Amino acid sequence: MLDRYLEFTNSAFGKQVAASLGLPTPPRLDRATAAYAAAPLAGSTALFAADSAATASTATLAALKQLGATVQVVTGHAGFASVKTGAQAAGVELRNEGGDSEPLPPVIVFDGTGLAGTKGLKEIYELFQPRMRKIVANSRVVVLCRALADTDSVEAATAAAGLRGFVRSLAKEIGKNGSTANLLEVSKAGDAWLAGPLAFFTGPNSAYVTGQVLAVGDAPKGALSPAHFGQSLAGKVAVVTGAARGIGAAIAEVLAREGATVVGMDRPAEEGALGATMAPLNGLGLALDVTAPDAGERLASELKSRFGGADIVVHNAGVTRDKMLRNMKPELWDMVLNINLGAILNINERLLQSGLKPGARFVCISSIGGIGGNAGQTNYAATKAGVIGYAESLAPILARKGMAINAVAPGFIETQMTAMMPTVNREVGRRVNSLAQGGLPQDIAEAVTFLASPLANGVNGKTLRVCGQNWLGA
Ligand code: NAP
Repeated sequence: MLDRYLEFTNSAFGKQVAASLGLPTPPRLDRATAAYAAAPLAGSTALFAADSAATASTATLAALKQLGATVQVVTGHAGFASVKTGAQAAGVELRNEGGDSEPLPPVIVFDGTGLAGTKGLKEIYELFQPRMRKIVANSRVVVLCRALADTDSVEAATAAAGLRGFVRSLAKEIGKNGSTANLLEVSKAGDAWLAGPLAFFTGPNSAYVTGQVLAVGDAPKGALSPAHFGQSLAGKVAVVTGAARGIGAAIAEVLAREGATVVGMDRPAEEGALGATMAPLNGLGLALDVTAPDAGERLASELKSRFGGADIVVHNAGVTRDKMLRNMKPELWDMVLNINLGAILNINERLLQSGLKPGARFVCISSIGGIGGNAGQTNYAATKAGVIGYAESLAPILARKGMAINAVAPGFIETQMTAMMPTVNREVGRRVNSLAQGGLPQDIAEAVTFLASPLANGVNGKTLRVCGQNWLGA
């Protein structure tokens, strides 16, 4: 649904009106228009700094080099010596930061993996504070710290945790111009796979992801190569449930953009819409209710006979049937529980017996309603919180089989589901986030595709919010 306020305040006349009345102007967000390039930051400059005891600078600079970025540095910053050492080890040529009159590069990466105590945290203040007024529209700030379990002291763990508050607050300050800030908590084993999360979080694919903390941990042996970018899903088979429209259709499109063959599933009543979505993608439509008793069996046998199995399974089908608990009839409770959660458990149980290819990755759609809760959504929030726990608890079991599962928790997304909301609720729902607008189905699809791809090797059992840093459950 068109956000008329955003459109108006971004017109020449609307800008004047908003300025004279002191109204907020939601920024226009830069989103991806094509598949990941082999070197997604080629032609871009990234400002890189590190703390004076940072331990991931070599890995981060090697990742920026792999992504094709030109690297600019701040020679006067306390951590410059560790940046120089890292650059020598990674074979990265450094450029000095431009003068005061030059804009900052649109990508800013800070390696805070060696921070300890308040003295350490001062080093991130010293980098960002003098530059805050120069952050350009649609900038991407990525801060790295060590996973708390991998820190060497209580002081280091304290500083790493402090970065969560820093990044979440920074995201709220820079969202006004469409910029984002996110924190990667990297275990020592995660260093080799940093290029993947960096590609996502420094690019247009994460336009609606801000104020988030993502853990990057153990991953398969090896490291990302150029083959992992640009149509990296070629030859992969991806199943998407609820693919006829809305977020599911966007997920199907973005997975296909990255090269996957998509099997879209939706209720038989949506067969026409499903066909219309799948045809331009050269995908396969499967008119099958996810709650049908034989849904897992039919899906597994289609996958086995046509493709030998699936590489990616995205559980997106979902419904709301909102009622205050005192008024909620059992059929409304059961329907939401069965579609949003029960079907995921049943289908996965069957697919895990047979129907998957080695290294399969699952992504389940949760909701920020499952994190913050909503009056009138006890049924829905129970399913969406359940999905988060399901991913977390299944992840170590899947890791032993070389597979992974993660969840995406959307905030307010412009779909038929939110178009049906009462006008006032819809308008409030759109604005209560750091980017002052609703997300688009594409924003969820980009996060799902990241988590379904090798770029997210090392991310397992996690839930990524795609919500513009919505205040709900923040
Ligand atoms: P949507 O526009 O209503 O699309 C959902 C799709 O799933 C529809 O095509 C629907 O078909 C299908 N579906 C429903 N029940 C099904 C079943 N039993 N078997 C197979 N397919 C079924 O919803 P959406 O906004 O794209 O939401 C997609 C997912 O994102 C859901 O899990 C939702 O909870 C989650 N989410 C959305 C938002 C948001 O702001 N939109 C926020 C948080 C989370 P029918 O039309 O026939 O029912």
